[in-house]
This record gives sequence, structure tokens and C-alpha cells, in this order.
Amino acid sequence: MPWKWPLHWQVFAGMILGGLIAVVLPEQAPNVAPLGEIFLRLLRMVIVPLIFTSIVSGVASVGEPRTLGRLGAKTVAYYLLTSLVAILLGLGLANAIRPGDGLEVLGSGFDADTLQRPGSLGEILIRMIPENVVRAAFEMDVLGLIFFGIVLGLAITTLPEKPRIFLTDLFQNGFTVMMKLTQGIIRLAPLGVIGLIAGAISTMGLSVIGQVGMYFATIGIGLSLHFLVALPLIYWIFTKRNPLPHYRVMSGAMQLAFSTSSSSATLPLTLRTVEKDAGVSNRVASFVLPLGSTVNMDGTALYECAGVLFIAQGLGVDLSFSQQILVVVTALLASIGAAGIPSAGLVMIFIVLEAVNLSTPAAYALVGLMLGVDRPLDMFRTVVNVTSDSIGAAIVAHSEGETLDYGGSNG
Ligand code: ASP
Repeated sequence: MPWKWPLHWQVFAGMILGGLIAVVLPEQAPNVAPLGEIFLRLLRMVIVPLIFTSIVSGVASVGEPRTLGRLGAKTVAYYLLTSLVAILLGLGLANAIRPGDGLEVLGSGFDADTLQRPGSLGEILIRMIPENVVRAAFEMDVLGLIFFGIVLGLAITTLPEKPRIFLTDLFQNGFTVMMKLTQGIIRLAPLGVIGLIAGAISTMGLSVIGQVGMYFATIGIGLSLHFLVALPLIYWIFTKRNPLPHYRVMSGAMQLAFSTSSSSATLPLTLRTVEKDAGVSNRVASFVLPLGSTVNMDGTALYECAGVLFIAQGLGVDLSFSQQILVVVTALLASIGAAGIPSAGLVMIFIVLEAVNLSTPAAYALVGLMLGVDRPLDMFRTVVNVTSDSIGAAIVAHSEGETLDYGGSNG
């Protein structure tokens, strides 16, 4: 029974079916293409409430800013540093490999003049502040919404206990229901993929398959470099210790991350492992890890950046330096706003597209192609996300004078 298969196999089957329809019954492709359109609309429908509740509840639940102090500052600095390293890796690789070149979707009449052209980093920062929050939501100005979400969350942490708990619970529950809704929509991915792949292959030809392979390889190489080189190096720089024991004790959590594709679902095991097998105190682990599982997503950040560059290349659009900076900033915010659930990163790609004004039907066709191969990439980026959180906990613990102990004796 195909509907009893695991979701990723259903998506894979949907992809094959969509491809077969485009090749064997091309005249039917326009009839199934609306399935893809419906699916993407459903995903876009949840973006604004999903990221808004995710950010506000994430920031608000961190607790009183005064008690966070030094620990909070170190954690946030680590998260920003590793996410940025990951994004720059994605940026470099996507520019070097150029996986989207040659797709030539541009028959669809894309007008490159409509692209967002930020003048400078200063202008990007100014644009982040919405003049009108309601309009920001209305126009899907996600940078503005994320900014407002962060400051609102911070303001909630300063309230007296009663209203603080009330508002934190309110946003937390809002986030929970939005995650439920998103997961429900993602259950429809196999159907959506049939329409998206049939539509994409019938308009762009079979060569898209090779191109998607290039995209897959670019993200895979980026994630591997971050996982095997950048993170161990960062660990070594800050602790002056061999990273191998850390990777060894984390292997169980990595496997769980890989099989669930969810940082949130892996969190209990990550917490337990970091405390029991790496000797990080409960004080540090219970602060750094829950926050990290929702805001620190290196793998997702890398993917957002490289994925959008792939789409821009596929549309034949050359992003200027300042536009690429805008992609970097938005990819960072999108990874912060992404929930730790399967496919969350894919939903956020629309945000980065929106930020550079690349949201067009042709771009969505490319997102459809990416969706077909998203599950394995999602599994790998979740491993990277969870590993980065755990290394953050170890580095912060080390900087607080704790002794990391991978023998499993203290913890
Ligand atoms: N599944 C990832 C996570 O939970 C998020 C993503 O889709 O990139 O960490």
C-alpha cells in the first residue's frame, strides 16, 4: 500500500510518477501540474504565522535576559558564527560549481529588473525594521517580521511573571499548532511532487535531472565540509582538544537526527548525551541546546543560501554582490526562524526568494525540483544542525571553566 510507506518513499514514488507522466503522457502534464501549485500555495500559506510564532516563542522562552547574561551572549555569538561560516561555505560552493547554470527556465519571461537591489549592508539593516507590522505580514516582508518577532520576544521576557508566562504560552501554543499544520501539509508532498515534477520536466526537458544532481552534490559537499572540517576546527580552536571523542559520543544523536530529520525530536537525546557523555553541566546544556535546536541550524542555513543561488542561476539571473549579501542575511534569519521539524528548511526557502524578489512561478518550479530530492538533504542537514548545537554546548561549557569529559564519568 503506497500510502502506508514512509513519507520519503512516497515522495520518491511521486517524483518517478511525475517524471513518467511528463515523458509518456506529456499531454496530461498540464492536468496534473495544478497539484504542485496547490501544494506550494499551502506551504506558503503557513510561512508568516509559522515563523512569527516560532521566533517569538523561541526568544521569549529563553527566560529573563538579566539571568542569561554572559552565557546567553556566548551562546548567541557561537550560533551566529557557525551559521555564518556555513552560509559562506554554501555561497562559495554555489558560485564555484554553479549548479543551476544551463537550466534555462527563463523562457518564462523573467524580468531581472524586478529584482530587489539593496544598496549596501546598511540599507539591508534599515529594511529589516518594518514601518508597519501589519503591512509587513500582509506583504510577506519576512525580514521585517523576523525583526519584530525578536524584539517582541525580548520584550516579553522583561514582563512580570504572570503576563510573561501567559504570552509565552500563547505563542508557544500558536507555534505548536502551526507546526502541526505544516506537518499535515507536508504529508501531501507526494501528490504535490507528482504535479511539480511533471510540470517541470514537460517545460524544461529531462536535462533537469542532471541539473538537480548538481544541486544535490553542491549541498552535499557543503554539508560535508561543514561537518567534517569547519565544525571540528571551531571546536579545536575554542577548546584546544581533539574533536574526535566528541563526534564519537554524539554518534547516537547523529543517527537519530538522520533518521527523524528533526532537531526537536532529537533534542532529548542530544541533551542526555552532552551531559552524560561529554561532561557538560546541566546548567549549560539545558540553556544552550533547547535554544540551539530551534535557532541554530547551520545545515539549514547553508542549504537556504546555496538553494537560492541555484534557483537564481536556473533563472539566468546574476545576483550582484549586494544581492548576495541580502541572501546571506536572509538565509541566516530563515535558519533562525526554521522549526526543528522535517522539511522546515524547504518552507523557509520561499522567504529567501521573497527577500530578493525572486518569487515567481518559474522559481517555484525549481523549488518543486528541489523538493523531489529534499529528504536525504534534510536528513543530512539535521545531523549538521544537531552536531553544531552539541559543539556549541561543549565550547560554552569549556569557556565557563568546566572540564569536558568524554569518559562518561562526570556529568
Ligand atoms: N529538518 C531540519 C531540522 O530539524 C530543519 C530543516 O528542514 O532544515 O533541523
